[in-house]
Amino acid sequence: MSKETLHKEVVIIGSGPAGLTAAIYSARANLKPLLIDAPPDAEKQTSPGGQLMITTDVENYPGFSKGIQGPDLMAEFRRQAERFGTEFLEAWITKVELQQRPFTLYTKDQVITTETLIIASGASAKWLGIPGEAKIPDGLGGHGVSACATCDGPLPAFRNKPLVVVGGGDTAMEEATFLTRYGSRVYVVHRRDKLRASKIMQEKAFANDKLEFIWDTAVDKILGNQKDGVTGVQLSNVKTGEQGDFPCAGVFIAIGHKPNTELFKGQIETDEIGYIKTSGHSTATNIPGVFACGDVQDSVYRQAVTAAGTGCMAALDSERFLDHLPIVMPTGDEVTMEGEHVTADREAIITPDGHIVPNKTGAAAQGD
Ligand code: NDP
Repeated sequence: MSKETLHKEVVIIGSGPAGLTAAIYSARANLKPLLIDAPPDAEKQTSPGGQLMITTDVENYPGFSKGIQGPDLMAEFRRQAERFGTEFLEAWITKVELQQRPFTLYTKDQVITTETLIIASGASAKWLGIPGEAKIPDGLGGHGVSACATCDGPLPAFRNKPLVVVGGGDTAMEEATFLTRYGSRVYVVHRRDKLRASKIMQEKAFANDKLEFIWDTAVDKILGNQKDGVTGVQLSNVKTGEQGDFPCAGVFIAIGHKPNTELFKGQIETDEIGYIKTSGHSTATNIPGVFACGDVQDSVYRQAVTAAGTGCMAALDSERFLDHLPIVMPTGDEVTMEGEHVTADREAIITPDGHIVPNKTGAAAQGD
């Protein structure tokens, strides 16, 4: 069966705060954006709406003085993007070709070409890479090991049992605090003796008497079996090297995130970790017409509100890029913003005052 072909002015990849904000702005500019989001998949950690879909209270998103639940906030973003005519497609993108414009994206059923591309594919949770962490049959992943307390915390296996959270950032504090609703006691295992988390999150965690900290400690191994799930962890003190087993029924890994840039590997400029590089005070990547926003290009702020802000920037950047593209005439000639005609054979440029000059770009491309 042949694939459906689509051509768009703007395609947005990702439906977190960055992607949906880009969609709201592009749709209001009448660009009829197509937003592609990955289907929900627990293993690949994809969920339409992004990371806020697995967050509970969002207290710091401006405009919600009483706070708002992450999924409710994303539902509002989505309704707003829909209201102005964003088209949504839930599909896995299997390949992208960014070497020439229009750019091409492939899914199982579609071939999509687009004049501009906004990458807002976000970031996913990192894993420790220790024995016992992987999915069954290689470990206990999904049987007591999780990277999402809000998704898995309420499971019966964790009720009134000791639970371990690994990490010392805001995610770890949020997950640990949330898990105290379910576990008998929650132990935060952190590799240093100081937290990275924001002051307010630290204060909340320290004030919670069901929460305890195990400092300067690494988790070396997750213990258990497929029948009983997780039964404990093997810990070691990073300063003394002292080792010991610690009983628990669940391990929640909360050690940060990595950008989702696998799809673009080798085609777009990234830093050594994989975050897409954007130039100066803009969302422009090294490929003209490709823009990046949100956590996929931000290793510093990583907030919903900053992601939304860069989503707005990406939409404006792509709109300006489209405004400056030459208009193709029925004859094949192109008219640039400056009023110059480039002939259909690309050999000559006719200036607004009627002069005919050789097309330098075309000549240079032929080694002139
Ligand atoms: P962070 O990078 O801030 O923290 C990661 C934590 O995990 C650090 O304490 C780090 O230790 C530890 N860690 C990293 N790698 C390992 C490892 N291999 N072994 C053991 N420990 C490890 O990530 P977060 O996901 O916590 O936060 C990311 C961003 O999201 C932040 O900007 C945060 O403010 C924001 N956020 C905000 C929330 C909110 O406001 N409600 C909720 C959640 C996140 P070390 O400290 O030693 O480096």
